[in-house]
Amino acid sequence: MKKIIVALSLFSTFALQAQQKEVVITLQELTPDIQMLTGQGGNIGVFKNEKGLFIIDDQFARLSSKILTKLKPISDQPVTMVVNTHFHGDHTGGNENMSKQGATIFAQKNVRKRMLNNQKQKGQINKSSLPVITFEEGLDLYFENENIVVTHVHNAHTDGDALVYFAQGNVLHMGDTFFNGRYPYVDLRSGGSILGYIKASEKALVLIDDETKIIPGHGKLASKKDLQTFLSMLKTITENVQKEITKGSSEQDIINNTKLTEVYDKKGYGDGFISSERFRKTIYASLTSKK
Ligand SMILES: [Zn+2]
Repeated sequence: MKKIIVALSLFSTFALQAQQKEVVITLQELTPDIQMLTGQGGNIGVFKNEKGLFIIDDQFARLSSKILTKLKPISDQPVTMVVNTHFHGDHTGGNENMSKQGATIFAQKNVRKRMLNNQKQKGQINKSSLPVITFEEGLDLYFENENIVVTHVHNAHTDGDALVYFAQGNVLHMGDTFFNGRYPYVDLRSGGSILGYIKASEKALVLIDDETKIIPGHGKLASKKDLQTFLSMLKTITENVQKEITKGSSEQDIINNTKLTEVYDKKGYGDGFISSERFRKTIYASLTSKK
């Protein structure tokens, strides 16, 4: 038995090391000053300005040094600002490392609240990982050649989501209110809702035009057309589920009813993190929630 345990723990150590080694950080230039960084976890937006680097989200703590190395050629100045699009660990895990090297972190106020609550539950308060500036509905940032509009969208992926729009560069980072080509994760336990999720996409569409480059929380760089496709997927499936609820279908009926998502299942929307079954279940739960 002991041998098995030793073998297993060795295996998991190796597996973990292999997993860490495999993460490749890539940069994609969107404008001369704005890039999209991918690695593991949520996509990062990078904006080079006269004061240093402004980044949107920071993936996991173990990737911070790799990310910072990748950013070095962009600017000889450090990361001075981080905005978190929401509280999930694959978007905020690097906060502590970024703040230790001098960055100011800001986010919607529920992001700080949820991060702090999670830390309290674990009995490990770590203030340096928390946003130091919070906002309620949004804020505007002015740089020499760029204005950034940060807008809170209510009860979408979570209750603390923010869209970050670069007005001059015409780039929008949507955090996890957009999973490009995939069924999204709607975190109902953290204040997310399917109707809020739909509204977030609608709000984003008001901000942008045909030329806008959209950084989704997960998935490839997107255009307005991709977001419109995603929104019609959300609306169609939500309507399908609502019709079934009105007819008196149970949760299990909806989970079993593959017809409700069939069109998009065929396009591969359920091949990612959220399966079509899980997505139907989430929409049912969200639409019938008493909150
Ligand atoms: Zn998330």
